[in-house]
Amino acid sequence: MGITQWVRRDLPVEVVESVASPVSEVGGSPIEAVPDSGEPSMSKVILDVSHSGWDELRQVVSGCAKCELSKTRTRTVFGAGSQQADWLIIGEAPGEQEDRQGEPFVGRAGLLLNNMIKAVGFEREGVYIANVVKCRPPQNRDPHLEEVLACSSYLKRQIALIQPKLVLVVGRVAAQHLLNTSDAVGRMRGKLHRYPGTDTPLIVTYHPAYLLRRPIEKRKSWEDLKFALATYRSLQA
Ligand code: URA
Ligand code: SF4
Repeated sequence: MGITQWVRRDLPVEVVESVASPVSEVGGSPIEAVPDSGEPSMSKVILDVSHSGWDELRQVVSGCAKCELSKTRTRTVFGAGSQQADWLIIGEAPGEQEDRQGEPFVGRAGLLLNNMIKAVGFEREGVYIANVVKCRPPQNRDPHLEEVLACSSYLKRQIALIQPKLVLVVGRVAAQHLLNTSDAVGRMRGKLHRYPGTDTPLIVTYHPAYLLRRPIEKRKSWEDLKFALATYRSLQA
């Protein structure tokens, strides 16, 4: 059906994130603008968020210019929900509405995602929702590998701060990135994965935008949600 496979290439892109110059003691911020013709240029900001708290992380993301998507976004979409959430839901990238409002999953797909969250007994505010990239790709194209890699330290830090009990990944792009595979969702769903480098269970299901196009697949998605719920409950037993 002409669906382009997003194949991860084994070409790691170097992302500058080590603190190359000492962070000012006075400011206490990890954001160190390298002076350049008087104007602090965001593209020269060098940062390391691996120890950041929420406020700092949010601040760094809001000014981030690590990839091309910073040029076309209206605003960054950091993520939303409970910082103590048991469930972390990971989507792909902000769309038009999200880019306007600065909040993940607020468009049509978001309404369906809210229903999916309710179906497993949570409120939207009780889970955490984030995307693998924090800026909208132009015309909602798939994010490029280098963009996902440039953005990955933010999601990584969000996961470390939340320490969710379960990660639900919606859609092919996010799942392929997180599981480092080119498998289709149909092959990834129905299996218990682990968030790489942790014991945290990770379950894959269809993206709500896909379910809006193919409502017939909602049945399978419901199976996935029941599987996720059973997995979550078994952890609490
Ligand atoms: N689709 C996504 O993957 N994420 C959003 O935030 C909105 C739509
Ligand atoms: Fe930065 Fe991520 Fe936005 Fe790229 S997508 S500019 S890495 S926040």
